[in-house]
Amino acid sequence: GVVLAGCGTGREGAAGDEAAGGAEGGFDADARIGVALPDKTSENWVLAGDLFVDDLEEAGFTPDVQYAGGQTPVQDQQAQIEAMISNGAQAIVIGAADTGQLASQVQAAKDAGIQVIAYDRLIQDTENIDYYIAFDNYQVGELQGQALLDGMAERFGEQDSYNIELFSGSPDDSNAPVFFEGAMSVLQEKIDDGTLNVVSGQTELSATATQDWLAENAQERMDNLIQGNYSDGTELHGVLSPNDTLARAILASASDAGLETPVVTGQDSEVESVRSIMAGEQYSTISKDTRLLVAQTVELLQTLQAGEEPADAEPMDNGAAEIPSVLLEPVIVTQENAAEVYADDPNLAPLTE
Ligand code: BGC
Repeated sequence: GVVLAGCGTGREGAAGDEAAGGAEGGFDADARIGVALPDKTSENWVLAGDLFVDDLEEAGFTPDVQYAGGQTPVQDQQAQIEAMISNGAQAIVIGAADTGQLASQVQAAKDAGIQVIAYDRLIQDTENIDYYIAFDNYQVGELQGQALLDGMAERFGEQDSYNIELFSGSPDDSNAPVFFEGAMSVLQEKIDDGTLNVVSGQTELSATATQDWLAENAQERMDNLIQGNYSDGTELHGVLSPNDTLARAILASASDAGLETPVVTGQDSEVESVRSIMAGEQYSTISKDTRLLVAQTVELLQTLQAGEEPADAEPMDNGAAEIPSVLLEPVIVTQENAAEVYADDPNLAPLTE
């Protein structure tokens, strides 16, 4: 049951056969590669799909790119991965719709001798992930926390205390707590010493969550926070937002309520947010260049195809195992460095002129 380069579908490994799958084997140079992406909750996912098709084809592989875009994204994605397995994929790249609900699909892939790469989001509680590749999510959070502090000092001047609110991402995404913990590693001590005042008192991950990363859910929570805590004229200086989609919703809510524009963080370098940053509204975003992440993922596939192992993987715990992980460096972006950071990005560079 060993999967040899040049030997067909990659499904030769029988269930339970230890020799099948895992990181030890190469696969066909023109192998079918499944790419299972989540719903298009932010621009990075939209970009990733097209880039995977192009880059995989250019590398000689046969791409099968699917989005979990329907009413039932989790079930959609589970079915898509099962179809990739039965259609003879030799490697599957997964941007999980729900990082807690793919254990049986990746077990089936493993049993079929297929290499599994978790992309951007680390699938939890399974040992059947060969590699994880992403930007360093904890560092994303640290950069967001620091940007919130810097932005408030810049926009409102040095003050003894700033009023803030905190938002986190979707509970079904294992990145959400990591972003939040990274940010809190910067903010918690300032909350403790009184420099930061979370006026609503909502500082727990569960209280700050934004189900499904949906803008409307963030906007509704922000409307309620404003109504309950700021309608008496209390100033709101800053809001920690985990990404750009939610940042714009938070800004819309503040603007609808007639508040002075608070400092709001973001992530993903979405076009509308880069515009907003250049206009002096949203304070920061994070550059996690999707072109780079996809290119590195395809490079990782080529390494595995050749039967080799990536040199720079470090272990990350997903609750069941230490998953070898390739982590890229995120970059903070504000009005000040946007032109420099986006200089070679044909979509974003023109917005910074
Ligand atoms: C990604 C972010 C994105 C969010 C919502 C996260 O898992 O890392 O880049 O903003 O999902 O799509």
